[in-house]
Amino acid sequence: MMSVPVVETRGLVKRYGDQVAVAGVDLRVGPGEIYGLVGPNGAGKTTTMRILATLLAPTAGEAFVAGIPIDADPIEVRRRIGYMPDFYGVYDDLRVWEYLDFFGRCYGVPANRRPTMIGELLEIVGLGDKRDAYVESLSRGMRQRLCLAHTLVHDPVLLILDEPASGLDPRARVEMREILRELRSMGKTILVSSHILPELGEMCTGVAIIDRGEVLRAGTIDEIERSLRAAALIQVEILGGDEAVTAATTWLAGRDAVGEVIRVDEAADGPARLEIPFGGDDEAQADLLRAMVEAGHRVAGFSQATTDLEEIFLRVTGQARDEVEA
Ligand code: ATP
Repeated sequence: MMSVPVVETRGLVKRYGDQVAVAGVDLRVGPGEIYGLVGPNGAGKTTTMRILATLLAPTAGEAFVAGIPIDADPIEVRRRIGYMPDFYGVYDDLRVWEYLDFFGRCYGVPANRRPTMIGELLEIVGLGDKRDAYVESLSRGMRQRLCLAHTLVHDPVLLILDEPASGLDPRARVEMREILRELRSMGKTILVSSHILPELGEMCTGVAIIDRGEVLRAGTIDEIERSLRAAALIQVEILGGDEAVTAATTWLAGRDAVGEVIRVDEAADGPARLEIPFGGDDEAQADLLRAMVEAGHRVAGFSQATTDLEEIFLRVTGQARDEVEA
C-alpha cells in the first residue's frame, strides 16, 4: 500500500491581481523525504510554502499535509508543520533558552517538560554551549539554527524551510545541511527551498525546479541532472568558410533532437563556431559527431558548452522565460 504523502498539491494556483505567482503546481513528498524546491527569485517558492503553512489561501487547486486538506483544517495542519520563513524576526534581548522556552509555552509544552526539550533541541542544532547567550550575540548561522530549533518545538512531522541557508558562509551552509540530514534520520519530512541547485542536490531525495510559478522538472536529483544535461548546448567548430558552415547548419537542422543552430563566431579566419541545443544523451552525441564527419563536414571541434550543473540550470530557467515571453 502506498503511504499517504506528507505534502501533496494538485493544480495549486495563486494570483495576486494580474500577477500569477503559482501557476498550477503539483507536488508529492513522501514520508522521510528531503524535498527541494529550487528556482530563481520570484519563482513562486515562498508563495507555495506559505500556502502549505496555511498563511495564504490558494486561488485554486488543492493542498494536503499528511492527508489533511489545508483549507478544511488549518489548525490540525499547523500542529504538524514547523515553518521557517525566509525572513525571521528573532527577539534579540532574550537568552537562547528563554527564546525557546517562550515558544514552548506558546505551543503548550508543559513547564516541567520544557528544560529537557530545550536541551534536546539545542543539541540537535549544535547550540548546546549557547544556552545562556543572548540572541543578539549569535552569528547569522547560529541564529538560523536557533530558528530551526524554534520550528521543532512542537515536534512537527513536516518542516517547511524557506531558504534556510541564505546569507550563510560556506561552512555554515554545510552545518545547516548536516542538521537537515540529522533531522531526516529522526523521521522528519523536510520541504526546503533554495535558488542554488547543487546546494540542494547533495541532500535531497527529490527536487522540483520551479520558475514563473510552474514546475519545469521534478524527480530525483539524478533524473533532474540527466534531463538538464540532455538539454545541453554543444559547440561545434567547422572548417571551410561560409559555404561549408551553411551546409553544416542545414544538415544539422534536419537531425533528431537538434534545436535551432546558432553561429556564435563571426571571425573571418579560423573555424566558425556553431552552438547546437541538443536533447540527446552521450551516445546520441557521439552518433551525431560520427554522422557529421561521415557526411563530409570538416569538424575541427565538438564539445559540450558547459558541464556546470548550476549554469545549465540557469539556462533552463532562462529558456523557460524566453518561451513565456515569445
Ligand atoms: P524569492 O527567492 O525571491 O523569495 P520566490 O520563488 O520565493 O522568490 P515568491 O516570493 O513566491 O517567489 O513570489 C512569486 C511571485 O509573486 C513574484 O513575482 C512576486 O513578485 C509575486 N508576489 C509575491 N508576494 C506578492 C504579494 N503579496 N503581492 C503581489 N505579488 C506578490
